[in-house]
Amino acid sequence: MEQESVSQNLGTRIMTFTPSKEEFKDFSRYIAYMESQGAHRAGMAKVIPPKGWKPRRTYDDIDDLVIPAPIQQVVTGQSGLFTQYNIQKKPMTVHEFRRTSNLDKFCNPRYADFDELERKVWKNLTFNPPLYGADVSGTLYDPDVTEWNIGRLNTILDTVETESGIKIKGVNTPYLYFGMWKSAFAWHTEDMDLYSINYLHFGEPKSWYVVPPEHGKRLERLAKGFFPGNAQSCEAFLRHKMTLISPSILKKYGIPFEKVTQEAGQFIVTFPFGYHAGFNHGFNCAESTNFATQRWIDYGKQATLCSCRQDMVKISMDVFVRKFQPDRYKLWKAGKDNAPIDHSKPTPEATEFLKGDKTEPVKSPSEAGSEEPTTPVQEDKRSGFTLTLLLHCHSLVSPL
Ligand SMILES: [Zn+2]
Repeated sequence: MEQESVSQNLGTRIMTFTPSKEEFKDFSRYIAYMESQGAHRAGMAKVIPPKGWKPRRTYDDIDDLVIPAPIQQVVTGQSGLFTQYNIQKKPMTVHEFRRTSNLDKFCNPRYADFDELERKVWKNLTFNPPLYGADVSGTLYDPDVTEWNIGRLNTILDTVETESGIKIKGVNTPYLYFGMWKSAFAWHTEDMDLYSINYLHFGEPKSWYVVPPEHGKRLERLAKGFFPGNAQSCEAFLRHKMTLISPSILKKYGIPFEKVTQEAGQFIVTFPFGYHAGFNHGFNCAESTNFATQRWIDYGKQATLCSCRQDMVKISMDVFVRKFQPDRYKLWKAGKDNAPIDHSKPTPEATEFLKGDKTEPVKSPSEAGSEEPTTPVQEDKRSGFTLTLLLHCHSLVSPL
């Protein structure tokens, strides 16, 4: 259980970072630093904020906060392959949600270690459907918090709002998630294959699975094979966020993946095209949103989107290519910008950390770890300069 804490991540193990107060001030710069260390290759990293940092003075005052559309997660399937349906319930307060989470019927069982907990999750997935207070628009950050404020990260994703005025809930605005035992999130990459950041404000842990971006297509092929009907109906059915695949199935079929458990007070960052899924250990509350770096732009250009539903998130890449890749704009417009993505290359903003050194950073913010650290292109035929941006698909109510 030790990590090479200085050298770069040459493999695809999940890395854990512990920035100092100083290093924690500039969000985009720290993400670039993490990539200079190879963190993106795992598809996910953990960040433990500096001692004493708090996004909110107290959580004792949120009992009356309303969860407008709690969902009941009904899961069907067997042998490690499942489909999750969301049944929308009436609004409830955080107080009511917590009380429900802690009822004997919904609270977590006893377990000796993570392995036992994990076995219980996958064994009981189809029983006793839990509630999930997902996609609640809002933030729990105090307004004066400037470090890693999920409501205002100031990354280049802000270009969408500044150039078009369009807000996409949960993508360039924060969402809150209230979890209970066994509530789960399906295998997915982010909308437009963006980055995401998730902060666990309080409560029981959240466990994550992740497939390294360089192996993401293997997971897609496996999923298509198991759910051929879905694959026929939609080019990107995993974007429906309904497909659960157990770690034992991934193991059996040789899909590389890793696990990490996020505790209250910790951040999880997911990187472009890092497929992830997971579950909550009990009552908890997380906040998340998406963000971007220059490295994301090629992912956004090549993202395979859901082809079967109307209101799915789509961001026009035109403004990003014009602004950040002006030399490739004409080529891209002609549908000839077809280089495959190198998933291992850090974002251009990481250059300052890599100068004069191929293996170690010049400036080296302390990076430590307790966690084990461890392509083909699509064409685009759109014309004109319009920034088209569609609505968000709120995890909807599916039939049952
Ligand atoms: Zn679809």
